[in-house]
Amino acid sequence: NKQVIYRDYITGFPKETDLVLNTSTISLKVPEESNGVLVKNLYLSCDPYMRILMRKVQDNNLFTYYIPGSPITGFGVAKVLDSRHPNFKEGDLVWGTTTWEEYSLITTPETLIKIEHTDVPLSYYTGILSMPGMTAYAGFYELCSPKKGECVFISSAFGAVGQIVGQFAKLTGCYVVGSAGSKEKVDLLKNKLGFDAAFNYKEEHDLDAALKRYCPDGIHIYFDNVGGKMLDAVLLNMRPQGRIAACGMVSQYNLEEPEGVKNLMQVIYKQIRIEGFVVFNYYHLYPKFLDMILPHIREGKIVYLEEINEGLESGPAALIKLLSGRNVGKQVVVVARE
Ligand code: NDP
Repeated sequence: NKQVIYRDYITGFPKETDLVLNTSTISLKVPEESNGVLVKNLYLSCDPYMRILMRKVQDNNLFTYYIPGSPITGFGVAKVLDSRHPNFKEGDLVWGTTTWEEYSLITTPETLIKIEHTDVPLSYYTGILSMPGMTAYAGFYELCSPKKGECVFISSAFGAVGQIVGQFAKLTGCYVVGSAGSKEKVDLLKNKLGFDAAFNYKEEHDLDAALKRYCPDGIHIYFDNVGGKMLDAVLLNMRPQGRIAACGMVSQYNLEEPEGVKNLMQVIYKQIRIEGFVVFNYYHLYPKFLDMILPHIREGKIVYLEEINEGLESGPAALIKLLSGRNVGKQVVVVARE
């Protein structure tokens, strides 16, 4: 059973060599004393929160942090090979938290969601049809109260979540602006995902000036994926009664000391509502979300761009690529296709 092992706590920027491949043995039957499932992992998802789990200082209790010397965990799509749990049977396809290895014994199968619709790419259950998709849906519709004609700004707009938020905002009739870290991503935002405007934040030495240029009438809704300097600049450009969905702060994940935000007084002056959220608290909306998004995907009204990496061996490089922003599209690792 090939696995991806996390060597030791990481400070600063993670490197590919912080993760190593190892081989262990595993029985392909669920032990009699367990009510778990034994799965074959098919697709693994690379997500920014995985960097948080590599830190020594644990500042929240949402996650199970990685243990040095052990394989890493993450979201993935898997096929059930053996089950002692009443909800799952051999052959079922599922998505949820698994381990970065070929085969996994999942002892808490209640956390897995059965895949019912297979007429769309199975890899979508690492992205648009799983945790990132739900994050976009809950963050945008439940927190931001979007209205037609409003200006929506999304940072890390070409990310797994940002791509979807932008397209939801366009469906709502909003004016949609995104930032991303390369010309290629900016072009895709405008030409493939229908954003009204997009810019490369790495080429803007004055983010406040850039936002004034791209959102001249101010921002009604900010979907924040990055925090830090961008959040600071956005605060200066929010409209009164604006809403900010605090989704993630990827610009801070490699820093030992988080950056300060200077312009918080704007929250009072403009009566801005900033709301943080955790997607797991919205999973009860998953069936409603699928009913809404599947027809749009089937009709090509919502598209999703992925970067597919072949083989578990490609996992360490794929994850580091995501954390440095060099990926173009939802970063997926294929362990096996069936
Ligand atoms: P993304 O694809 O957006 O994250 C990776 C991207 O982040 C990179 O491609 C890069 O894109 C960008 N990035 C990396 N470093 C920096 C930096 N220093 N400053 C700015 N951008 C950077 O991830 P997701 O779409 O999966 O997630 C988006 C955000 O939502 C993340 O912050 C994540 O942690 C959070 N999240 C929160 C959830 C919740 O429940 N609240 C659930 C899921 C995700 P670029 O080229 O643009 O720099």
